[in-house]
Amino acid sequence: MKRLGVDVGGTFVKWVCWDGSRIVDRGAEPRGGDLVEMVAGLVDRFEVSSVGIAMAGLVENGRFLWGPHTSDVDPRFPGVVAGRLGREVVVENDANAAAVAEVRHGAAVGVSDALVLSVGTGIGLGIIADGRLYRGSGLAGEAGHMYLGGETTCDCGRVGCWETSGSGRVLDQAASKLLGPGRHASDVLAAAARGDESALLAVEQVGRRLARGLANLILVFDPAKVVVAGGVVEEPLLEAVGRGLITELGGLPYRRIPPVAAARFTRWAAAVGAAVLTEEDR
Ligand SMILES: [Zn+2]
Repeated sequence: MKRLGVDVGGTFVKWVCWDGSRIVDRGAEPRGGDLVEMVAGLVDRFEVSSVGIAMAGLVENGRFLWGPHTSDVDPRFPGVVAGRLGREVVVENDANAAAVAEVRHGAAVGVSDALVLSVGTGIGLGIIADGRLYRGSGLAGEAGHMYLGGETTCDCGRVGCWETSGSGRVLDQAASKLLGPGRHASDVLAAAARGDESALLAVEQVGRRLARGLANLILVFDPAKVVVAGGVVEEPLLEAVGRGLITELGGLPYRRIPPVAAARFTRWAAAVGAAVLTEEDR
């Protein structure tokens, strides 16, 4: 039985066709087209039995409210898709969906207490506590908007949010500065992997800022494992996060630093999780 998962992010819309254990097909395109037409076209193409939508932003009780990076998306969009298809559409926050994908089928299988960080345009967090997704009273996990200092105004309106100093967008800005206009985070990571010193420095800085926020979360949740999903999760960045945690966390060696692993589903984790969520009673 095939299911469709769609991840509506700040920059891209990504989708996967999921067969219950693996990605059968997948795709990504810059956001801006007609989302309803896109989803309807994919449903027809793959003859899927269900549709899940992961939204970058606030989702409460299966309803998309608003997102700082998706404020131009009509909150009624999932409902319009459901009406067009004549069936229920599951809606979840993108970072929560990514956490579900990783704990059911990915790098956090068998881990009852895990943090799944999604690093893309912004930073999202899915909290797995006692093997279940922790939602608080509905909107838990908005860690990208924790105050971590700095003077940059976030898309959410606040100054000094974590994601203004540690997200993929910061690496994108470094790419334009170091490598020229039109270059992206992936170019900086590739340059760092080749040993380019200025790229290594930029990756180190973003990794340290990610580690600072992550250290705060580790102090609160004491996870057994941290999984990092998203488009910029590559070895040089994860290594920088690991180095950063050693300096950011106090109480060593009595406190154990949890392993920080790359997500199995990388930048597709939220789309996979949206599809997986349609398999279960929620
Ligand atoms: Zn913010």
